[in-house]
Amino acid sequence: MFRKRSLHSNLNSLQESLLRMKNIVVVGSLNQDISISVRRLPVEGETVLARAVRKGIGGKGANQAIAASRLGGEVSMIGFVGNDSAGNEMLEAVKGGGVDCSGIGISDRERTGKAYITVDDAGRNTIVVDSGANSCVTPEFLETLLHDRIDANTIVLMQMEIPRESLLYGIEYAKKRNAFVILNPAPAAKLPREVYSGIDILTPNETELAILSSAAGKDIAAMSTDLVKNGTACVVVTLGAEGAGIILNGTGVRRVQAPSVNAVDTTGAGDCFNGALAAALAQGYRLDDAVLFAVRAASFSVSSFGTITSYPDESQMEMTFG
Ligand code: ATP
Repeated sequence: MFRKRSLHSNLNSLQESLLRMKNIVVVGSLNQDISISVRRLPVEGETVLARAVRKGIGGKGANQAIAASRLGGEVSMIGFVGNDSAGNEMLEAVKGGGVDCSGIGISDRERTGKAYITVDDAGRNTIVVDSGANSCVTPEFLETLLHDRIDANTIVLMQMEIPRESLLYGIEYAKKRNAFVILNPAPAAKLPREVYSGIDILTPNETELAILSSAAGKDIAAMSTDLVKNGTACVVVTLGAEGAGIILNGTGVRRVQAPSVNAVDTTGAGDCFNGALAAALAQGYRLDDAVLFAVRAASFSVSSFGTITSYPDESQMEMTFG
């Protein structure tokens, strides 16, 4: 199945393969976000009234594709929406974000995926996702699309909101074509050990890292090293206001500090981070610089409200960070 990566995979070999990278293919979810503001979250069996209901663009795949494109990436997306108004709005938004949408299927059978997000006055939330048309992203659907879009110059960026067998198929296929694979393991679920050698960079947050690693409960270095030993070249852990940590084989944790910002809304920060990371790597940044770029972009995004509406473009990055 997967080629076994030798344990001495290190920064140099990672850096070498990155020199070729140019285009980005995001394989992932598209969901319409339905955000419902309430004074407080209902308890079991209770009904509360909404103060406001807003529709927005979401799904980790769509968010990451738009973030990468806004930051200069040449991005195409593979996914599925339903043949309905939500699907049209999603397609418009993703296209409007500069992403090639020719790999997004439209289902007559399944409705567009939706995320129902309830947020109370204290910022606490509950989220229920109806995957809908995202379930149409099958290995058979991926086969032709990946064949036409992926080669050794491609960064493939994936998350875990599509069917599991399709995720595993996508990673395996991308590796066969010598593409560079970034997996944002969210929402996290344990992965078969052999899959790790197909992943070049794994980008969990701390909670996701603990779910994936068999060294859960230990520190970040130990949990990440466990995954690097499984064959992933590099783990980049996002650490909220603390920025991120880079873990390669035997290097310990290299910390990348986040700028100090007034954080007002962290929704979608992780997606901004992943899109920005892919965009920077595709444009030839070295790994450390790409992670710094991604940390800065995500920190920029938390300093205003909204998900994709808070993501920076290239000129905003230039103006803010020089
Ligand atoms: P989310 O699930 O909210 O999208 P996440 O849990 O996947 O996020 P985090 O580790 O919380 O990811 O944050 C991703 C990045 O966002 C961080 O690496 C950092 O750059 C930025 N960030 C998040 N919170 C803050 C904050 N309070 N101040 C500055 N930067 C932040």
